Amino acid sequence: MEDFEFECWRCLALCTVKGRPKGFWTTTHYELPTEWECWNCGAINRTPQED
Ligand SMILES: [Zn+2]
Repeated sequence: MEDFEFECWRCLALCTVKGRPKGFWTTTHYELPTEWECWNCGAINRTPQED
């Protein structure tokens, strides 16, 4: 598990999102939930997609 930090779009609180390694071999790519809830204000945030 790896922690990623994103700012909430609404209150700008720093939220920690847990990522799971995508494959057994790689430690460079992580699978993040597409949506997560801000711990501070409860707003639903979308994870920025990298591609
Ligand atoms: Zn928030």
